[in-house]
Amino acid sequence: MDVEQPRVDEHWMRVAMAMAEKAEAAGEVPVGAVLVKDGQQIAAGYNLSISEHDPCAHAEIQCLRAAGQTIENYRLLDTTLYVTLEPCAMCAGAMVHSRIARVVFGAKDEKTGAAGTVLNLLQHPAFNHQVEVTSGVLAQDCADQLSRFFKRRREEKKALKQAQKAQQGTLS
Ligand SMILES: [Zn+2]
Repeated sequence: MDVEQPRVDEHWMRVAMAMAEKAEAAGEVPVGAVLVKDGQQIAAGYNLSISEHDPCAHAEIQCLRAAGQTIENYRLLDTTLYVTLEPCAMCAGAMVHSRIARVVFGAKDEKTGAAGTVLNLLQHPAFNHQVEVTSGVLAQDCADQLSRFFKRRREEKKALKQAQKAQQGTLS
């Protein structure tokens, strides 16, 4: 690997994290992705499952769809996808279909990670295409971004419950 590669990877991961912030601002779980070819950004995306009522609207899928439209090809050859959270099985499948060359992810997903944590679809020997995987780029920052979001959401739910309880108290 190029000695500059880790620095380059961190740069693009920060771009993916900025996309995750957009998801968070929209009330979505903060996951962001960016697709890069020859050092240029082709497309980016962020999680939109809740607002789009779409279980498939993960950051990576949004990014791959946008990239296909941009280059007018469903094959996304010689590209690298950066994503803040380890891809799930659906997204890993889409990456194999689109012939992505490399995936770089930040935080591991212990529950549904399909890039090596729970299973490894990106490098399954039976598939006709294997994707190079680099994990753990800005892993702590990406994990913190997610856990801050879930912590805040728990607190908001708790505050809402307490407010409802207080209101019931005044009514009875
Ligand atoms: Zn996914």
